[in-house]
This record gives sequence, C-alpha cells and structure tokens, in this order.
Amino acid sequence: MSIDTATGVLGDATIGELEAALRGEVVRPGDPSYDEARAVWNAAHDRRPALVVRCAGTADVIRAVEFARSQDLPVAVRGGAHSIAGFSTCDGGIVIDLSAMKGARVDPARRRVLAQPGLTWGELDHETQAYGLAVTGGLVSSTGISGFTLGGGVGWLVRRYGLASDNLVGADLVTADGRSVHADAEENPELFWALRGGGGNFGVVTSFEYELHPVGPEVLGGLVIYPQSEARQVVSRWRDLTAGMPDELTTLVNLTTAPPLPFLPPEVHGTRIAVVAGMYAGSPQAGEAAVAPLRTLGTPIADVLGPIPYLGMQTLLDPLWTRGAHNYFTSAFIEASDAAIDTMTRLHGTTPTPFSELHLHQLGGAFGRVPADATAFSQRDAGFLCNVIARSPEPDGFDGHVAWARDAREQMARHGKGTMYVNFTGDADGDRVRASYPDAVHARLVRVKDEYDPTNLFRLNQNIRPSSGG
Ligand SMILES: Cc1cc2nc3c(=O)[nH]c(=O)nc-3n(C[C@H](O)[C@H](O)[C@H](O)COP(=O)(O)OP(=O)(O)OC[C@H]3O[C@@H](n4cnc5c(N)ncnc54)[C@H](O)[C@@H]3O)c2cc1C
Repeated sequence: MSIDTATGVLGDATIGELEAALRGEVVRPGDPSYDEARAVWNAAHDRRPALVVRCAGTADVIRAVEFARSQDLPVAVRGGAHSIAGFSTCDGGIVIDLSAMKGARVDPARRRVLAQPGLTWGELDHETQAYGLAVTGGLVSSTGISGFTLGGGVGWLVRRYGLASDNLVGADLVTADGRSVHADAEENPELFWALRGGGGNFGVVTSFEYELHPVGPEVLGGLVIYPQSEARQVVSRWRDLTAGMPDELTTLVNLTTAPPLPFLPPEVHGTRIAVVAGMYAGSPQAGEAAVAPLRTLGTPIADVLGPIPYLGMQTLLDPLWTRGAHNYFTSAFIEASDAAIDTMTRLHGTTPTPFSELHLHQLGGAFGRVPADATAFSQRDAGFLCNVIARSPEPDGFDGHVAWARDAREQMARHGKGTMYVNFTGDADGDRVRASYPDAVHARLVRVKDEYDPTNLFRLNQNIRPSSGG
C-alpha cells in the first residue's frame, strides 16, 4: 500500500486494495456520492475526509481499522452522524461509516434485542415496538443508537428504566489492533463498564445487546406551553412537582421561541415560551393523575398532552430538529435551586436566535438508583441536566451564538458541580472531557484506554487520552 506523502493523497492502487477487501464501498473526493457521504447532521462541521468507508459488516470494520492504522490516518467513527462536536467526520482522514449496518433481532421471550450500530432510534423503536417492547432512546428519532448509547443516553424512559447505556447488556467491538472482542458483565467487565458512558474511546462497536421493557403501544405524553411572562413561576412549580413524581413520568422544561406550529395561535409564533414536556410510561389512564399538575403551572397557551402512540412520542419533536442547520450544544448537571431558575429564565430572554434554547431535564428515578461505580456514566446524584443550545439555519453570526451558549452554560454550571454530559458537549477540548468525569472515573477510563487503545487511534471523540499521551 502507498500514500503520496507529498500531498497526503492516498494512491488509487492503495484504495483499490482496500475496496477489494470490503463487502461495502469506499467513497472518496470526486465520486458522485462524495458530498452526500461526507455530510453529517450538524452543518457546522463541513469536513473533507480522504475516504468514507461504508461498512457492510464487522469484517469491513476490521479491514477499515487495519487500513487506518497502516496508513496512519485520522479515524472518525460514525453511527447516526449526530455528534454535536463533529467527531463523526474529519479532514483528510478515514470515516468508518456504520450507517448501512441496520440489522436488529428482537428476542421477545428474553426481552432482548441485538442491534447493529447504524440504526437510528426511529428504526430500532420500530423493530422493538412490533413486540410491545422498548429501551430508553433519544427524543429525536434520527439520532443514532451508537454514539447515544456509548455516551449515556437520556430519553423519555430514563426515570423508568435508566439510561440507554444502563440497559446495555453486552457489546461486540473491533479494537485498535483489529481484534473483535465481546464485552459484558462476565467477559471483559472493565471494558463493559467503560463502554457505558465512556464514549467511542475503546473501539468500534459492531453490535449492541439491550434489555427491553414492555412500553406502549399507547402512552400519555406531549407538551403544555406557557408564555414567557410565566416562565419563572412555571419552572419553579414544575421543579417542586418533580420531587414527588412517579418513575413512570419523565419530564423536562424547554425555554424557547414558539415555532409556527398549527396548535399555537398565530400571535404567539415567534414569541418566547416555556414548554413543559413529558411522558408517562404506563397506561394513559393510570398516568392522568400524575400529569394533571403539569397543566396548571400557569395559564397554558396550548395543552397537547394526552394519549399518544409511543412511536408518536418518539417522533414528536422531529420536525424541529431537521439536519442541515448549524448547531452547538453544551451542558451542565445542576440542582434546580431558585437561583438556578432565576439564571435560566433570565438567559431565556437573551437567546440569540429563535432556535436557540435552554432545556432542563429531570433525572432521578431508575437513573439515580444505579450505583455510581456501576458504569462510566457516574453523575447519578445529579437532579437535573441543563442543556444549552445555539442553533441557526445560517452560518452567519454562528460564532457569536456559540459564545452566547458557552457563557450561558458557565452561568448555569455554577448551580452544580461543574460536570457536563459528553453527548451534549459541542467542544472537543480536553478540559471539557475532564469536566464530564469525576477523577476516579477518569483514572479508571484511562486504564481501560491503555489496555484497548494505547496509541489513541480512536481520538476523534470526547477523548480519554492513554497514559502514553497518545
Ligand atoms: C437532534 C439531536 C437530538 C439529540 N437528543 C438526545 C437525547 O434526547 N438524549 C441524549 O442523551 N442525547 C441526545 N443527543 C446527543 C446524542 O446522544 C449524541 O449526539 C450522540 O453522539 C449521537 O449518536 P450518533 O450515533 O448519531 O452520533 P455519531 O456522530 O455517529 O457518533 C458520535 C460519536 O460516537 C462514537 N461512535 C459512534 N458510533 C460508534 C460505534 N459504533 N463504536 C464506537 N464509537 C462510536 C464516535 O466517537 C463518534 O464520533 C441528541 C443530538 C442531536 C443532534
């Protein structure tokens, strides 16, 4: 194999050898599908990889990893391509694109599903709901299961059944040396611990096995929308309610700007609003008493909370999160003190675009009962997760929007321990990663990294650097 070191361009013969070794395909600059193949969900990351390897199966992943290592190429690993920080693409390197690997096998008797890494939550929910089953998935159905699960995974079932990663019972992955290894509670348990919250640091996962739970087909869920003038009171009353909510109910508040949705009066469109969203993961009849107080936190502009198919709830927010916009997310685990709510509602008045917003996710329930050392996702005592979002359809001024979000995050983080959630972290610097893990957890992750990726081949992620420095 050869690389033109003068230009950094891979030779045709070199790529031909790789292509011949694959069941999937290689896309490179100049190919008709190159622009489509290099695009990711977040338009803020417009990169030009040297090649995109569209893997058809595990053998292709092994070949791609070996090729990247032999050519000393930067490696980006892509499942659903929703990385906020842009980790699933790169300039001049290789993208190991798993998006064609979409197999799912549900075992309804054991309530398990074996899922390939290219599935989105919409696709996996479709398969599991055919059996009346589900696992905690994303709030937006186009999000990939892979990055989501490896970083944690907060969704409408988080208080009932924990994070997506809490429901992972096993995984197969291709490590930096091209081996395929299995990790579960008995086999490679430290690797299994690290995969549940440690992100894509340890190899390329080719199969996820999840525990499933009976959910739906109908649940109780939706949105109650209040005017900004009531936001302070709404968030504060909601916070008070969360302390007594049953595990079946997972809620959040979103301080945002009203989109032109048909159930909102036209005069509200474009004004700032406080949205209370939630889902009761039980029978709609049983849930009504639990959700009723969400309707009386103020004077609702709209109340679209009611019985809904679980699959409908999982796609409810999709129209607001189409691909192709510029996005930056950043986060902080906080306590929702009065002071924190003051800060949040004040920041709501400063959002730089109508698509920029502040979310406060309620945690607790099953999420909070997982022992802190059971998985690498360790912030189990946090009551709430604040996610600050800067989003714009236009590149113009986006840097300023990002600066707003960073500043807002710093202000919100003062109401917690300063830790953040790797999946809601749009920055790629080491300080942000360190802020995502307590010291002991980070040290344990470094030991696993040393064992499985000592040269830091997989570094395009919220990177755990090996002790060698990588
Ligand atoms: C619109 C939107 C909605 C979101 N909603 C939620 C939400 O409700 N809850 C929540 O918790 N998070 C949410 N997120 C954040 C989401 O969890 C992360 O963006 C996550 O990384 C997405 O996974 P992906 O497979 O689509 O990403 P990708 O961009 O494909 O992957 C992200 C990173 O994960 C790693 N990775 C991916 N696949 C593999 C693999 N098979 N093996 C090893 N490493 C891999 C790589 O490091 C990669 O760079 C949301 C993000 C977006 C953009």
